Amino acid sequence: MEKVIACCGLNCATCDARIATLQNNDDLRRATAEKWQKMYNAPGITAESVNCTGCRMDGVKFSHCSVCEIRNCVQKKGYQTCGECPEMEGCEIVAMVHKHVPEAIGNLKNLN
Ligand code: SF4
Ligand code: SF4
Repeated sequence: MEKVIACCGLNCATCDARIATLQNNDDLRRATAEKWQKMYNAPGITAESVNCTGCRMDGVKFSHCSVCEIRNCVQKKGYQTCGECPEMEGCEIVAMVHKHVPEAIGNLKNLN
């Protein structure tokens, strides 16, 4: 599958919100909302809110991603991704993502 690398290094191409948006697939929106409600203990996530073109793409963002601290930091510093940041190794903001999804670090390195 293609890679659409987010500021943090996650691959938005594999994200159900992006897939549902590109396919305009309401069944996948509903299933994703249900899954994320449980996963993130966030009952407020509705199928209608599951719309996102990807972290660094033009277009609609899922609510969390539009206020994401990592994305905001990258934009404020004028980078494309955390991979351009000399502070990445010791950065506590992006550390949580990289701890849970180490592959994200490799995705960033491959962009440079
Ligand atoms: S930015 Fe959008 S596509 Fe990327 S992980 Fe977040 S919700 Fe998914
Ligand atoms: S300080 Fe952290 S979150 Fe901000 S751009 Fe650098 S690595 Fe990314």
